[in-house]
Amino acid sequence: MFWDKSAETIDRSALEKLQLTRLQETVGRVLKHVPFYQQQFAQAAIPSDVIRELADIRRLPFTTNADLRAQYPRGFLVGDGGGPVRLHTSSGTTGKPKAIFFSRGDIDRAANLAARCLVMSGNTDRDILQNMMTYGLFTGALMMHYGAEKVGMMVIPAGPGNSEKQLLLMQDFSSTVFHTTPSYALYFADFMEKKGVDPRRDLSLKRAFIGAEPYSEETRRKIEEAFGIEVYNSYGLSEMNGPGVAFECAAKQGMHLWEDHFLMEVLDPVTNEPVPEGCPGELVLTTLCREAMPLIRYRTRDITSVVAEPCSCGRTHRRIRRITGRTDDMLIVRGANIYPQQIERILMSVPGVGRNYLICLSGLDEMTVKVELSASEFDGRVERLVHLQTQLTERLRAEIMVKPLVELVPPGSLPPSEGKAKRVIDNRAL
Ligand code: AMP
Ligand code: ZN
Repeated sequence: MFWDKSAETIDRSALEKLQLTRLQETVGRVLKHVPFYQQQFAQAAIPSDVIRELADIRRLPFTTNADLRAQYPRGFLVGDGGGPVRLHTSSGTTGKPKAIFFSRGDIDRAANLAARCLVMSGNTDRDILQNMMTYGLFTGALMMHYGAEKVGMMVIPAGPGNSEKQLLLMQDFSSTVFHTTPSYALYFADFMEKKGVDPRRDLSLKRAFIGAEPYSEETRRKIEEAFGIEVYNSYGLSEMNGPGVAFECAAKQGMHLWEDHFLMEVLDPVTNEPVPEGCPGELVLTTLCREAMPLIRYRTRDITSVVAEPCSCGRTHRRIRRITGRTDDMLIVRGANIYPQQIERILMSVPGVGRNYLICLSGLDEMTVKVELSASEFDGRVERLVHLQTQLTERLRAEIMVKPLVELVPPGSLPPSEGKAKRVIDNRAL
């Protein structure tokens, strides 16, 4: 099923032609309206008609997270006729956030892309979406909300947290779909279990869209098993609309990235050269249709790779693989480069491990991984726990080349997260 079949199955040469026109328009637009880009182009002596073919994108300057912060609040805003109707901000952990503006047309196009994603993953106007993402300055909930309304789904704007109420809504209004982060999905699975709710028997859930933070295939499987549903990976970032940038189809073999709206590059984050197709690198995106805030070569810092083969669903927009980490969340512990997701993948694949974990760094370079036990394991015998602890320590050491201290803790004892989870606490005295 398609939301917009001609756009989603457009042949590659027509798509590339469309991308070229839209890229030229975007460059023209920023050069006319955005002093930041005017300066960047002038400094690097880039002519305004630089884009003759798509490959010329590589002659353009990058836009970084730091640039967005430095230009806060209005530096990237295009202030002509189609002015902004909405401000969102992107979650800054420290300091000033990034301000992201949307025109009326931008909101409508973002909703259309979200609708494509929803239909692509099997939703119809008979579905009921319980939207557990955060409403507000974060784009996560609202853009999906609008997309679902376009499809004709009934949306329950539940927002995050308050698990009692989530469960009540889910039961009383027969939600068929939910949208949340992987960490909250796992937490909610625990909550349901404690309440004695069997989702296969007591709920009407069929699928969930899980995104906003990195997670592994193992976590996907855990969520699917806990709820008896299909989980679809949903990727987006506020700078590029929020959710609905890339999303899985029914094949669940990578996420189609909507290339008529975003020009994608996958680059070696050190040399800034494109990596061979299929190899991992940093995703760099250029908006092709944004009015209020076009961005050129935005460095997402997300690491992924392109799936080269065509997809069985017939969509021609290329797919990206699950995000394996961010260039800026790499930890260096005792000289080893470690991504938190490597740890998550191991933990979630070992039976007996529950649904939450925390990586704590302390002292000179000590790593403790706190791991919740599953409810059944918690009541288990001491020898089994010792075996589990040894098994986890060894598997983690083989994966990350550092031997962590593994601390097994009771289910539900680590802090739950409603929005994006904080997985690493770094108190090192380095
Ligand atoms: P925000 O701009 O606050 O929406 O955050 C966007 C960031 O969240 C992205 O750049 C990714 O790092 C992360 N993110 C969003 N969706 C996913 C996903 N499905 N898998 C992994 N990371 C994700
Ligand atoms: Zn597909």
